[in-house]
Parts: sequence; C-alpha cells; structure tokens
Amino acid sequence: MSSSNPAPGPLVDGPHDPEHDPRASYALEPDQVDRLTGRVLSTTGRTAAVHSPIDGSPLAHIPQSSAEDVAEAYRRARAAQAAWARTSLEDRSAALLRLHDIVLDRQDEILDLIQLESGKARKHAFDEPLHIALTARYYARTARQHLETRRLSGVVPGLTRVEVNRVPKGVVGIISPWNYPFTMALCDGLPALLAGNAVVAKPDAQTMLSALLGARLLEEAGFPKDLWQVVAGPGRELGPPIIERADYICFTGSTATGKVIAGQCAERLIGCSLELGGKNPILVLRDADVERAAEGAVRASFSNAGQLCVSTERMFVADQVYDRFMERFVARTQALTLGATLSWESDMGTLISEGQLETVTAHVEDAVAKGAVVRTGGRARPDLAPYFFEPTILEGVSPEMICFGNETFGPVVSVYRFHDEADAVARANDGDYGLNASIYSQDGDRARRMARQIKCGTVNINEAFAATFASIEAPMGGMRESGMGRRQGSEGILRYTEPQSVATQRLLRFSPMLGMSEETYAKVMTLNLRLMKKLGRA
Ligand code: NAD
Repeated sequence: MSSSNPAPGPLVDGPHDPEHDPRASYALEPDQVDRLTGRVLSTTGRTAAVHSPIDGSPLAHIPQSSAEDVAEAYRRARAAQAAWARTSLEDRSAALLRLHDIVLDRQDEILDLIQLESGKARKHAFDEPLHIALTARYYARTARQHLETRRLSGVVPGLTRVEVNRVPKGVVGIISPWNYPFTMALCDGLPALLAGNAVVAKPDAQTMLSALLGARLLEEAGFPKDLWQVVAGPGRELGPPIIERADYICFTGSTATGKVIAGQCAERLIGCSLELGGKNPILVLRDADVERAAEGAVRASFSNAGQLCVSTERMFVADQVYDRFMERFVARTQALTLGATLSWESDMGTLISEGQLETVTAHVEDAVAKGAVVRTGGRARPDLAPYFFEPTILEGVSPEMICFGNETFGPVVSVYRFHDEADAVARANDGDYGLNASIYSQDGDRARRMARQIKCGTVNINEAFAATFASIEAPMGGMRESGMGRRQGSEGILRYTEPQSVATQRLLRFSPMLGMSEETYAKVMTLNLRLMKKLGRA
C-alpha cells in the first residue's frame, strides 16, 4: 500500500482529457469509469476529480451539471414518472427483488468501489449492500400494506363509502452525503420508486462513483433509465434548482445544510425529510454485561472511523462497572487492526478527506490542551493513509471543549462516569441533537423503561446501532436538531405519497330532507351524534 501524499489541487479541474488520466495503484478500469460517469446528466464540459483517500490517487473525472442540466433531469424524470405510475405494484416489487439479488451477487464490485472512494474498512463497506438488500426486500414484500387503496368507515355507516388512495408525489429530489455513499444514495430512493415516483439524485461530490453504480444497478434490475436521474456538482449550486422543481426533498447530511434546505422547501410549500447529525450517547448501567458493552462500544464509536450518523461520541458508564468497562474498552480498541486496504483484514479504515482529518485533529488537540486525558489513540497516522486518524478514547472532557457538545464525525469518543441514573439520562439528553442512543443492561425491562426518557429517534438496547438501523420495519430518524421525518418502515414510504380521500355518498344528503326545517335537522343530527357515541363508534 502506498502512503504517498494526496494529489493536491482544486476539486473542479476543467475539461477532462482522457489522454492524461493519471490512474495510480488503485486505478479503476477506464471502461468501468466511463460506464459510470456516462450516467451523469451534464452538458457543461466541466469535470471534477475524485481522489481515493487510500493513497490520494485520482479515480475518475466526474462530469459536472449546471442548473439547466437539473431542469432537463426533471423533464426526463417527469416523463418517465407518468408512465411508471401506471405500472402495477407487482412489477415494481419484482424490480426491487431483482435489485436485492444483484446487490448480493455483485457485492465485490460494490465493496471495491465504496472502499476506493471512502477508504473505509471492507467490513464497514459491507453494511451498505446489506442495507440496500434489506430495504429492497422489506419494501417489495410490504408494498400492498403501505400503498393499496384502503377502505375506511364513513360518517354515515353503510351510506358513506370512504377510500384513501396513496398518490405518488411526482419527482423526489434526493441529496445524499459521502459517508455511506452507496446506501445513502440509494436506500431512500427505493420506497420513492415503489410508491410510483421518479428521482433526481445529487450525491456528494466525493463519492459519485458509488452512487452512480447504484443508478446502474437499478437499471439492471429493470427500473426505466429515465426514472432515476443523477446530477453532479456542489450542493450550494445545485441545491436551489433541485428544490425549485421537486415535489418532495429527501436530504441526508449536516444539520446546518438541513436547515437551509428546510427553509427553501418551506418557500415552495413542499415536504421534506431531513436525516441530520448527532452526538449520540451510550449508557452502560451498573448491571451491564461489561464485555458485551465494550464490544458494542468499539463498533459504536469506530465503525467507518466514526463517520456514521448513528455512531457514539459520548459514553456514560456507571461507577460500579466503570473501571472494568474501561479496561476492556481500551484493550479492545488497542487490538483493532488499522489499515486503508481493500482486504477484509482491517478493523478500521481512514477518514475520507483532509477536511475530516482537520476537524478530528482540532477536536482532539483542543480537548487535550484544555485538560482531557487520552486513554488510547489521539494521533493522525499518515504512515497508514494521508487522512488516517487513530481510534481515540478521551476522559475528562468538559463543556468548554469543542468535542463536548459538537459532532466530531470521527473516531473520537468521550467517556464519563455517573453515580445516579437519572443524572446520566439528563446528561445523555443534554444538547440539541437526538438521533441515536444505546443502553447496556441485563435487565431488558428496565432498559426499555429508560429508553422512553431518552430524546432520540432510535434507542438500541445491548447493541450499538445495528439493531434499529437494520430492522427496516422500524422508522429511523432524529428528534430535535437531528432531523425531521423518518426513513424506513411505513413512514419511510408514505412520505413520498399524498393521501387522497374519496367519499361516495348514497341516499342521505347532508342537508334537511323531506321538508325538514334546519332546526329539526340540527336536532336529528344531535341525537345521531349521541347515539354514535353510545354505540362506541370512533
Ligand atoms: P453536508 O450537509 O455538507 O452535505 C451533504 C449533502 O448536501 C452533499 O451532497 C452536499 O453536496 C449537499 N449540500 C451541501 N450544501 C448544500 C446546500 N446549500 N444545498 C443543497 N445541498 C447541499 O454534510 P456532510 O458534512 O458532508 O456530511 C456529514 C453529515 O451528515 C454529518 O453531520 C452526519 O451526521 C450527517 N449524516 C446524517 C445521516 C442520518 O441518517 N441522520 C446519515 C449520514 C450523514
């Protein structure tokens, strides 16, 4: 593995000259790159380079889209959506099930690309096709349950027939981040397609190839090509033209950007779901299985080098088990195999970019300068890869330190001791975020009771994060500044539909009949209301 420095230079590097395409050690086949980049809707002649964080070598030059290209993407998507909305739920579900198989069959290719673009460990990359397969299967198998027209009881039993249709919104704009570049680009789109929508996707600039592979696999699974448009470019430039034309926006990324997007959606009165940041806590109670908690804590803190929205950055550990837990947590962390390679051997890979490395380094240096203690890690490791940072456990973190309340989004966790569980819950609830939490206790009932007091959208008991995230029937998302709306479950698909109520009235009118006065009509209706309540009707 090379440990050379990253290729410097601006991201947008002008027209791409294939003659001078310097592919290095982790080079992709030119054919493969062309097949993927050809999927971007772009007429600008401009490209932006993608470099691998593994060794800084260039991977591809991604064509860049303009606002006009975004408009064209919507035109194509709208035309495709009109035809798609007329297809049967069976046909749409079948395409999802084919995607399920393709993703499992082609996992090596998917994992290579994810790793090349993100530098994450292979076992963490595997979570991505896994999540897509789970999502595809769940929605394919539950399509009718969510989308079929439902009969409801009408106001006059027997005479008012009510049905609710689920009408697709139209074209959904999906803006996704780089940290799980394959699944974050795809997973929210699967229920959108199943519900009869088209998608215009703008993945993050750093990980376009993984997202483009997802688009190709959708096509291979039988989804019409124009149904899933991909545009590329800086979020600040393409965000407004995307939101201007969308019927709904699904955004995953930082809280700061989420607020900007929510404002723009509000201007147009379109709905949006926002999956944002977190400062997620773990509580290790006095009756926890310490070994299990330490295993979970390692995964919770260092999966994808901590660049995971639901990863843990704060840990509250009961006095009674603190020393035993810390000994096991530190030992397990020190035993991790670090390395930015495509093999299955590494337990943790590199951060994705220089910007990420700067943030993580700044948070740790600030904490140490103000008195925090590094129990393990704490250093950048350019010998492993240009942006590598060691898994780091801090003690003695206090409110004046940056990493106390701000999301680091890196492999850094602060551990605090607690004496009183109510106090631990209050500290876990401190701050503005509310994405994910974990509780370790051998008393499931007690932990579940405690979960109700935690202000987070997901709470995992005796698990780091995977139990909720991989249970696709359960809604996933954030409270407070961690987001709005939910992915997964019925919430994750109904957000892409408009409920349309259709009532058919027989015989009785909603006005006086047979010469009845308005006053008599009011009396009859009053009697009727009292009777309905007595009969126990809703
Ligand atoms: P970011 O908000 O900067 O970027 C995310 C996406 O938004 C990218 O595609 C980017 O190009 C685009 N974007 C940026 N500015 C935009 C604008 N003004 N208008 C429209 N689009 C814009 O996020 P990031 O810092 O690159 O990603 C990491 C963050 O994402 C972390 O805070 C993390 O917690 C969060 N995240 C949350 C989840 C979740 O499910 N809750 C999942 C992954 C990441």
